[in-house]
Order: sequence, then C-alpha cells, then structure tokens
Amino acid sequence: MYRPDEFQRVDYLWDDAVADQLDPVERLRYRSNLLGADQRITNTGGGNTSSKVRMPEPLTGDDVEVLWVKGSGGDLRTATRSNFASLDLSRWTALETIYDRAEEKGPKTPVEDAMVEMYRHATYNLNPAASSIDTPLHACIPFRHVDHMHPVSVIAIAASEDQESLTREIFGEEVGWVPWQRPGFDLGLIMRREVERNPRLKGLVMGQHGLINWADDDRDCYELTLTLIEKAARFIEARGETGPAFGGPRYVSPDPETREKLLVRLLPRLRGMVSQKNRFIGTVHGTERVLQFVNSVDAPRLAELGTSCPDHFLRTKIKPLYVDWNPRRESFEALLEKLQAGLTRYRSDYAAYYEACKHPDSPAMRDPNPTVILIPGLGLIAWGKNKSESRVTAEFYALAIDVMRSAEAISRYQGLPRQEAFDIEYWLLEEAKLKRMPAEKELARHVVVVIGAGSGIGKATAHRVAREGAHVVCADLSAEAAQETARELIDIHGAGIGIAGTGISGCSSAIGLGVDITRRESVQTLFDQAVLAYGGIDDVIVTAGTFVTPDQGGRIPDDKWSFTYAVNVTGSYIVADEARGIWQAQGLTGSLVLTTSVNAAVAKHGSLAYDTSKAAANHLVRELAIELAPLVRVNGLAPATVVEGSSMFPRDRVISSLHKYHVPFDERESTESLREKLAGFYAQRTLTKAPITLADQAEVAYLLSTSKLSKTTGQIISVDGGLPEAFLR
Ligand SMILES: [Zn+2]
Repeated sequence: MYRPDEFQRVDYLWDDAVADQLDPVERLRYRSNLLGADQRITNTGGGNTSSKVRMPEPLTGDDVEVLWVKGSGGDLRTATRSNFASLDLSRWTALETIYDRAEEKGPKTPVEDAMVEMYRHATYNLNPAASSIDTPLHACIPFRHVDHMHPVSVIAIAASEDQESLTREIFGEEVGWVPWQRPGFDLGLIMRREVERNPRLKGLVMGQHGLINWADDDRDCYELTLTLIEKAARFIEARGETGPAFGGPRYVSPDPETREKLLVRLLPRLRGMVSQKNRFIGTVHGTERVLQFVNSVDAPRLAELGTSCPDHFLRTKIKPLYVDWNPRRESFEALLEKLQAGLTRYRSDYAAYYEACKHPDSPAMRDPNPTVILIPGLGLIAWGKNKSESRVTAEFYALAIDVMRSAEAISRYQGLPRQEAFDIEYWLLEEAKLKRMPAEKELARHVVVVIGAGSGIGKATAHRVAREGAHVVCADLSAEAAQETARELIDIHGAGIGIAGTGISGCSSAIGLGVDITRRESVQTLFDQAVLAYGGIDDVIVTAGTFVTPDQGGRIPDDKWSFTYAVNVTGSYIVADEARGIWQAQGLTGSLVLTTSVNAAVAKHGSLAYDTSKAAANHLVRELAIELAPLVRVNGLAPATVVEGSSMFPRDRVISSLHKYHVPFDERESTESLREKLAGFYAQRTLTKAPITLADQAEVAYLLSTSKLSKTTGQIISVDGGLPEAFLR
C-alpha cells in the first residue's frame, strides 16, 4: 500500500477528522463522494461502493447485518444517503437458496433477471432506493467494505489482449482476474469462490470492465482502491514510453479560431443529420488528448473496435462514427459529404449488428444514429437527449480514448465482444428501465432562445419553457441579468452530470448571454454561442422591446423614434434573419414568437412611435410566417400593459400613469404597491376584470412554441384581459 503522500496519479482525499464525526452509513457516503470526485478513479455515474453494518431490525429489534450499497442510478461524486440501498443480509441468504434451486443458472439465464426483482424482498427498513445489478458482487464478498470502480488505468489492463498475465505482472498474488461476465448473481458467486480459493486476495480485475477490491476497515478499503489504481497507472507509464501515442499524428488541427468557425457552420448541419428520428443536444469536446486521438494514424482502427467498459459502452453505443477528413486540405463541403456517407454506412452497420445479435425476445431496434462523432481537427461531438446526457457521453468516450491509449501502450486494445455488447444494450432489464422512465416533457430535446430573458415577460418565459424540459439560452441587453436568470434555472432544474465539453459547450441546460438586437454582429455572436453550447436551436422567443416616453404632445426626438424602430422592428427582423440560417442548416421544424402589443391595433394619443413600431411588428410576424414556411412557424404575442415586475414600468412611469388616470395613491408607498394599484386600474378596463400577469404572457409564449399549436402561424394572440378596442379585424 502506498502512503497518503505517495499518490501521484490519483488524489488522496481522506480526512479522519471528517470521517470520525460520521455514522457508518455516512462514512460510506463520504468514501463514495471522495472516490467519485476523481475521474481517474471512476466515471460519472459509474462504479459502486458498499459497507456491511450491524443495525437493529425495526420490528424485532434484533441486531442484523445490513448491506448498504450504492443503488441504481445516481453518481458517487454527488451521492447522498438516499442514493444507497439497504439489504438485510440474513434475508439475502434466502435469495441465494432460491437461485441455487433453479434448474438453469448462470449468466443470461432467466433466473438471473428474476433475482433482480427479488432483491426488494431483502430490503432493510423499507428503504425505497432500488438495488443495482451489481448488488450481488457486494453481498457475496465476505468483507465489510467493497469498492467497485471503473478506473482508466485498470480498464486499460482489463481491455488488453493479455489482461490476465498483465494483472499478475502488476499486482502479483494480491489481485486476481475474472474474465468478462455481465454483472449479476452468478458473477457474485464466482467472486466469492475466488476469495475462498485464495483468502489473501484483496481484489479482482474484472475483464473488459474494471476493478473490485475490499477490506474490513473503510479507510483501508479506500486506500487499497487508490493503491491499485496508482500501481496500474505507474506500470502503464513505465512500460508505455516507447513510440508516439496512437501510431503518431496523421492530420494537423486548424488554429483555434478556424476550428471554432468550422464548428459553428458544421454543428447545425450535423444536428439535422442525426436528429431525423429524435432531436439531439450536442456537446463538443476538443481537449488536447481528444484532438491527438482523432488526428492520429490509429484512430480509424481503434474507433471501429468500440468501447470496453459496459458503462462507457451504454452511452457511446457499439462504436463511434469516425470521419476520415483532412482539416487542412479538404473543404467544408467535402466534410459534409463524408459525414452524410458515413452516417448512412453507420446506420446500416447498426441495423446489421442488431440483426446478427438479436434474440427472439429482443426489444425493437433503437435509433440507429451514432452518439459519438469523431472528426480530425475538430474533436469529438457527442449527442444525447439532453445536455447532461450528451456531456456524459462525451466524458465516457474521452475516458475510452485514455483507456485505448494506455492499453495500446502496454499491449493491444480490445473492445467488448459484439454479442456481449448487444446483450447489454438490449438487455430486457435495461428495456424495462427505459420503459419506466417518465414521458418526455413538451420541450425536451429543444433549445429555446429567449431574448429579453433578464426581466419581465422574458424572464417569466425562460422559467416557463425550462419547466417543460427546454434548454434555455437566456439573452438580454444586460449580460448580467441574463446570467442571473440562467443561474435561477440551473438552481431549480439542476446542473446535470457528466464532466466534459470544451468552452461554452461544457454548460448545463441554461446559459446567459448579452445581446444587442439592434446590431447584427451581436446577434450573430449570440447564435454562434448557442450553437457551440448545444449544437443548434429550435425555438426563438423575442420579448425585448423599448418604450420611449414622449413629451406632453406625444412627440419624441428623431433619434428616439429611430431607436424605437431599431429595437421593436428591425431588431426582431435581424434575429429572425440570423436564426433562419441555423433553422435551414438543421432542416428541423422550429418556431419564432415576437412580442408585439395591443397598442398595435388601437390608435390613441401619446405613444406614436411605440404604437406604430408595434403595428409594424405585427405585420413583420405575418411576412416572416410566409418567408420562413414551411420549416418555422412565426406568431406574435400581443400583451396589454403588464405592470408586474416590468422594466418598462419604473417608479416614475407608474406615478405619472396614476396621475393621468386620477387613481388615488400615496407618494410614500412602495413601487410594488403602486404597480398593483395601476394594474388594478387597468384590469377594470378589461372584459375579464383581473390584472394581467407575467405568467399569463409566458404561458402564451410557451404554447406558441410547442407542437400543441403546430398548425398556427402568422397569427397574433392578444393577452390583454379582453379589450374590445384591440380586437383584430
Ligand atoms: Zn461496473
């Protein structure tokens, strides 16, 4: 064992002062968080840990041995106590008897799958956390603490052609080796037999998969895990010093600026290509190591072998799509052609793999598109149903690259056998898990750009669409206000998991950006960033607008007049015009919502510039609906005065309006209370007699963006409480 100060390839984080304050289950949570915090120890969501703890049985009060083990789903780094399942080990023994009695047993037999359902009968204290399929590995190993990790350095050994002899060479008698087998009851029993055969054994390298090790003290177990990973990493470094990685470079990356420009052009095209069946959200990962791989001589051969660790494989699919394109010599058009051809071939390969490996009861074939695309000079582009999933996928392939690099340095890399990969991908238990997932939300897989998201209707709309599963690009003239809204959304909906994504592509489901819609370059930059963050856009909602208070005669200076039009009309046009290129490149349907005003339809004194600009915006909606059809629907949301939380109603405007309408008030009242008075006054002028809220407006902006109104385009929907004078005719 290494001493704490000797670790160089992993972070030693254990602190007795913290651990000693905790109860045994919290100590397990603590150990798990430490292990999960280092990607070299395990991947996001991968691996599991356990402790066997003596506790009173709630009904009888008897002292029983309870296995606390990380449950299905969740992630070690972020795990809390609620992520751990608990099983009464005295009841577990009964499960073993049932398994033993089955006529046909072993991996992939019906009893294996049936046992997973039986775990629940051994639940201790009604704990609702579901046990994972790795539970038997922890239950069967006769030591108090067990760690099962997916460390790059150990998977590299486990995915090498001569994995068994390498294991012996590196670890001697301390660590055994078991060939690849899908986790389950049988694998647990195999591991127990290994321990019984060799009581000195401290761990096992699991072929094509990872590492499992144990100890009777939890800190010892932690230190052993780190020691074994450190040993493997040191061995690989010492052995692998000969020759360049991946057979040396074949292509040279373009400079970072050119690379970014290429990605901005490419991503919407690529998103369209992979999203014909289901929309995907992208993550671009282009670290030095990833670029070294995609540019290398060996990349085409290694990419074809696919990933090894089943955890990696489930996200990255049987293999990535590698596109053989020279970033310095070949054109963008050539890249598109190669991608198109590559995708066609990939889909037919996938169908052939499905046909060759399927069983009579296999679930139907899933989306045949790749989730990982490798392009020399550009890096790795991962696709998932949401940002979190695409980030995890990118992380896993990046880890797989590290695995291949190490395995190739000491031996020859080998992927998971095709049939084994298929049996995991199409495992009936996996299918059942997918079926149990709640239905996707209305705006899941969508990227919605809300311009004006820093306050008022825009902020309320950003919240509304995020609640329906949208990824939200919050944009505002004030970058700070936009970022604040994005932060609120992440606080509510979570940052997701997965450690990957270069630059802005490492974001979560919401980002905040500054934009001035009167300047085309600013709008271009906004959309470029949105594309780099998510791979494309689906819906755009513009709530930004300006109202310049005229003088008593209703007049405003010429420059203010121009400014009103620049924001309320030209700005919306520029946004539509810049988004159009992305929509066309994707070839996917989208929607545009512009915020106009009921003032557009009512001629009155005092707001000539605003009202005429909004009338122009109404007609802009209709013209754009024709221009952007059939791909994009364009509609207008026409609010009447929303006083609540509106940046267009600062205190002095509220007071001047109250004066104008002879509404009694006290100068000392708070702005909010004055706003309420004014809103109440406006409400009385409507047919429905209730104040109009931001939520009322956000609801319509949201509905217009969804498939619920898929047959509506070129329309203006008033949200004004019912104002007969504003009825459109
Ligand atoms: Zn595992």
